[in-house]
Amino acid sequence: MINIDFLLAGCNTRCRHCYVNGGPGPMMATGDALLCMEKLDRLAALLPDETSFTLDHEPMNHPEIARIISAAANTRNIQNYHHGMTTGVALMGRGDRAEVVRAYLDCGYHTFGITLHGSPEHHDRIVRRGGAFDAAVAAGEYLKEQGASLEVTLMLNRFFVQDADGISRVLDRLRPQYIGFVIPIFTPHRNMMDFEPYRASAGMAAGLAGHLSEWGQDEAALMNSIEHSTVAAGIRWLQDQSLPDLFSQEQEELYLSLHPDCRLYVGNSGAETQCLGDLRHIDLEEAARAIRALPGNRDYGAFYNVDKLPAKERLINQLSELPQEALFGDYPSVIYRGLTELRIPARIGYF
Ligand code: SF4
Repeated sequence: MINIDFLLAGCNTRCRHCYVNGGPGPMMATGDALLCMEKLDRLAALLPDETSFTLDHEPMNHPEIARIISAAANTRNIQNYHHGMTTGVALMGRGDRAEVVRAYLDCGYHTFGITLHGSPEHHDRIVRRGGAFDAAVAAGEYLKEQGASLEVTLMLNRFFVQDADGISRVLDRLRPQYIGFVIPIFTPHRNMMDFEPYRASAGMAAGLAGHLSEWGQDEAALMNSIEHSTVAAGIRWLQDQSLPDLFSQEQEELYLSLHPDCRLYVGNSGAETQCLGDLRHIDLEEAARAIRALPGNRDYGAFYNVDKLPAKERLINQLSELPQEALFGDYPSVIYRGLTELRIPARIGYF
């Protein structure tokens, strides 16, 4: 499966955990966006895999998003993967927001999502924008009023226990169709260290007992998953693994990113390893040949030189220095944190 992260119009926040290089950025001109979509459609016809693109980071920043979303819904060979996540800042700042939401709904994109990071104060501090919490909640309410379906993601941080009652009140107000609960993982991206002071521990998460079921979560399953998401659990798992084997495993998903200057890169936004050229002008047959030869890269293991990995014992020693109850979400992210501490270079060279 191939996905192309189509970076249309920057983002309105600068989240500490952002692993896709969000934040304010340049915008792709409308003509370029339409041309790139047409080129991607033709490129997808030359690829054997299921190919999609995602309009990111905050498409609603684009003044002509209604026109662009309509073109995105009408491609033949490539699908627009609509994740619907929004910070709400762009939408609530638009005078034409009713038309924008109507364009999405008319194209069959009915579901939108907002992420909450706790109280307004903690949310705004984590996403590094004043008023961001209020904008997200206002957008959630507005989208529902317009007939969209709303999902809320709760992203765990160390303030969640003290903020739990406030979170419940906001959820009561929003009444989303679905509530997701996320433990931020660690990715080998230079931004990620900024989130570390906010990372929750398993002990803190245990303080959410009672609230998790109130928030629609399977509390027993989540607590079990939390127990298996710590650094200590990652180290136990690592004892039986071979690092070179883990990093050489075949991966089924390939991420590319298309920047606002129309350059197409291998790798997700923020973890690019190779530029394939300006999509407006590249030879599509040649690009398709290059893409077909690429290994999957969803798991960041594909970005490391296997022969430069440290001995497992050295990595385990390093991981033993970290807070053992810190929650990393999954085992690969524990390993990447250890490699970061050891300054083991990824091919993307961010360390
Ligand atoms: S995590 Fe999402 S909302 Fe936050 S800065 Fe990155 S792209 Fe923007």
